[in-house]
Amino acid sequence: MPFKAWFQCIGECEDRYPLNEVIYNCPKCGNLLEVRHDMEVLKTRSAYAWMKLFDERFMRTEWPYGSSVWGKKEVVCPHVANENIVSMYEGGSNLFLAERLGKQIGVEDLWVKQCGNSHTGSFKDLGMTVLVSMVNQMRAEGKQITAVACASTGDTSAALAAYCAAAGIQAVVFLPKNKVSIPQLIQPLSNNAITLSIDTDFDGCMKLVKEVCAKNNIYLANSMNSLRIEGQKTVSIEIVQQFDWEAPDWVIIPGGNLGNLSALGKGLLLMEELGIIRRRPRIACAQAANANPLFLSFMKGFKEFTPKKAKKTLASAIQIGNPVSYQKAINALKEFDGVVEQATEEELSNAAALADTTGLFCCPHTGVALSALSKLVGKGIIKSHEKVVVISTAHGLKFTDFKLKYHTGKLHGVKPRHANIPVEVTANYGRVRDAIYRELDRRAK
Ligand SMILES: *Cc1c(COP(=O)(O)O)cnc(C)c1O
Ligand SMILES: [Zn+2]
Repeated sequence: MPFKAWFQCIGECEDRYPLNEVIYNCPKCGNLLEVRHDMEVLKTRSAYAWMKLFDERFMRTEWPYGSSVWGKKEVVCPHVANENIVSMYEGGSNLFLAERLGKQIGVEDLWVKQCGNSHTGSFKDLGMTVLVSMVNQMRAEGKQITAVACASTGDTSAALAAYCAAAGIQAVVFLPKNKVSIPQLIQPLSNNAITLSIDTDFDGCMKLVKEVCAKNNIYLANSMNSLRIEGQKTVSIEIVQQFDWEAPDWVIIPGGNLGNLSALGKGLLLMEELGIIRRRPRIACAQAANANPLFLSFMKGFKEFTPKKAKKTLASAIQIGNPVSYQKAINALKEFDGVVEQATEEELSNAAALADTTGLFCCPHTGVALSALSKLVGKGIIKSHEKVVVISTAHGLKFTDFKLKYHTGKLHGVKPRHANIPVEVTANYGRVRDAIYRELDRRAK
């Protein structure tokens, strides 16, 4: 079937641009582009047929459909030839039933979507497979693309570096100096990316990478490149699929550059149009109070949006003051009766640590989302009987320094309510036994 997709302005402009053209913004009005699909062709298949097809492919091995992104290829990016796809079988991350945590927060039906359980340890893999596959295809068609570049708060660069390395394409990553964790710095280095450590913040890196890509044969991999959004939108399809094609009541998602929030909304709208879901979940975006331009805009009913300088936050991947996808994100929130909540450094740290005591292992961004959830429950906006999915965006192992500092009380301005430090004890049975029972007593209180 001739599935068709193209780039089109998110504003009023109607011109279409092919997905294999190097283009990121509308040439007429400068707005972002988005990928649009020929819905009439997609709708020639029933909702049931789509669900059945996606289920048959899910987590199997047939190339490339065992990837949960490419298992939904027709609604993601139909134009890439299968032999040009660069995939590490992304998606298919587990939904963690957070029963104990839910009880403590006051939510009976709480799930955490573990997007960090993936090849490079964050949800960024979902989008990067689409972008790098398209670059691979463009190069196969003879287009001159010397390298692919991105500015990053750590996880985009890790994903770009890995997918480019798998395809034999040179990656160039622009990182704000001393603002990403050591594991996040090691990832692109290991994958042989040209790794620039620049004395500025993310927004500064963004400005530079845009200029470099505009003036050279270097392809821009940031999320204004809406190919990534197409891959990331599969997270919403996958969540619904994992609930046997039922939408939850709420999805909580941490937001920085706001591409992922836009992607979440886009996937949900697509499913609604195809008849896969009939009821819309509500969306809550969670921001760090230190980098909260969307929260501030929400407080004013989205009447205006003012970029601000982001302050330092432990949730380093969302330390962004001038998010590129704010317009798409606001549109998504309006469609899904959305709200925005924020979390202070102390709140996000304690929320992540509390979740860890129930078996999770949360990155600080997931801490932001969990803290936002608690606050929304406290305000009565999220009801205790509602089914809630929290998107966990990265693996906690990327942020061990944050966790170590938390537990040893070294996070500036944070009172750790769930600190747990090693008990030093001599190698002697009695001392060891005493130490255990001392701790048991203390914990019983
Ligand atoms: C990229 C990222 C985010 C933010 O996603 P946006 O699309 O920029 O809003 C949140 N958490 C983690 C761990 C990330 O890597
Ligand atoms: Zn336009």
